[in-house]
Amino acid sequence: MDRFATTVPFQRRDAMDQRKQLIEAFNSLCLDLAGADLSDSEYPIQMVNRLITLAAEMRASDVHLQPSSLGLELRLRIDGVLHCCGFIPPSNAQRVMARLKVMADLVHYRHDLPQEGRIIFADRNQEMRISVLPTLHGEKIVLRFLSGPGHFRSIDELGYPPDVAESLRGLLQETMGAIVVTGPAGSGKSSCLYACLRELTLGSDGIRRSIASLEDPIEVAVDGVAQTEVNPSVGLDLASGLRYLLRQDPEIIMMGEIRDRETADAVLQASLTGHLLLTTFHAGSASEAISRLLEMDLEPYLIRSSLRAVLSQRLVRRLCTCARPSDDPSEACGLPVEEFFLPTGCEKCAGTGFAGRLALVELLTIDSSEVGRAILAKSDSRTLEGKAVESGMIPRLQRGIDAVLRGQTCPAEIRRAFGFLSDDRFLPAGQSDLRFDAGPSLLPADFTSADPAENPEPGDRAAMDERAISRVAEECVSQGNGNDRQTRPSLSGELTLAAEGGSDAAAADDTSR
Ligand SMILES: [Zn+2]
Repeated sequence: MDRFATTVPFQRRDAMDQRKQLIEAFNSLCLDLAGADLSDSEYPIQMVNRLITLAAEMRASDVHLQPSSLGLELRLRIDGVLHCCGFIPPSNAQRVMARLKVMADLVHYRHDLPQEGRIIFADRNQEMRISVLPTLHGEKIVLRFLSGPGHFRSIDELGYPPDVAESLRGLLQETMGAIVVTGPAGSGKSSCLYACLRELTLGSDGIRRSIASLEDPIEVAVDGVAQTEVNPSVGLDLASGLRYLLRQDPEIIMMGEIRDRETADAVLQASLTGHLLLTTFHAGSASEAISRLLEMDLEPYLIRSSLRAVLSQRLVRRLCTCARPSDDPSEACGLPVEEFFLPTGCEKCAGTGFAGRLALVELLTIDSSEVGRAILAKSDSRTLEGKAVESGMIPRLQRGIDAVLRGQTCPAEIRRAFGFLSDDRFLPAGQSDLRFDAGPSLLPADFTSADPAENPEPGDRAAMDERAISRVAEECVSQGNGNDRQTRPSLSGELTLAAEGGSDAAAADDTSR
């Protein structure tokens, strides 16, 4: 418990600093609009434009507008962590939501329907996906940036270790087989696939191959790829779409996701018949992806013959140059590291201590006969991982420890990415020296809930991490901002504001791009 207690303040301080910066930026936005006439039809237009600009400047990947009894809460996901900025009161909330729906060509007068669409900002070369869903207090809107400067464009920009990037390029030269990318939501699976597609369209040997994709939905347009979006209302789902696609004489197919046995079977069959398939699959690790395919009752020989590689990744936040060195074992979060760096915060990183993200990646290739035999024997994920490591795979946790030793990230980030629980399923057989030695001492009491939802499978770690982070954020709200949040009805009529100040956090953060 002691060791955990020493690690939390860093996350909390980090969350508080960033939250303060965001609140200041949001407040300055509200102050700028304070003089505006609320009845003016330009008001929601201005408000939305400023919100999107704020989100882009803060390098947010997602914008959440969540209704609550206090108003419409604005939250931004930055480097994988969700931060609250403040509230837009209910009277203006409706107009802001309506404006967003109009921009996305959605039905703005219906509030009882789930809706999806896109908003294109031609002037700033930016595109956002919008999702609207009715909730208890009204519609919740989530916007996701689809393209723009923050998105990776090539394999080199993914930040993979040189050995993984080189292997991946080699795999893309194959003419048949399936390459599967796994990881939780928001771990960069799509960025990886799109980077692979762009690499393939370049045609390094001067030969352009026939490339097609089947996606749900199309997130980014890639020149040179015939992209098709599924449309279940006309019977075009992933499995049937693949059958149609195969008649279009494709050589390379990117299929958005393996969702069930039917799509898994279709993907593996297609990859056996002279096509290179790229797809994603939800699994906790590379070996777990294979064992999950085996559990779907797919024939082991089919998996053995068609699967070329499984790439599994997690994203952690990269330390800013202002990080400070430490050799305090209590701050190592149980990782086997003696000297490492911790976040501090400077103007360049907007006080967060982090700038950008780093992919912790493992690449399991099926070319070794040992791994192949383990698949044919329907081995469990632990055995598969052990065989893969014997054949040269470097597991993600080892990549994470290496990244800490190189000063690229801090121990708490590795904990956030891989979970707080000591779990030997992350470690291959015979590598118990890498196991977190912290055990239950690192586990806060409320993490040992008997509720199975609180003890998720590794594949659900991200959700658990999110809960942990949001709990930290909630503590910040209750402990750090309990006194300084003020409701100031005088300002622009009714804006609810938190904290004082107005530093140009957005501009400062922008320099770290
Ligand atoms: Zn910094």
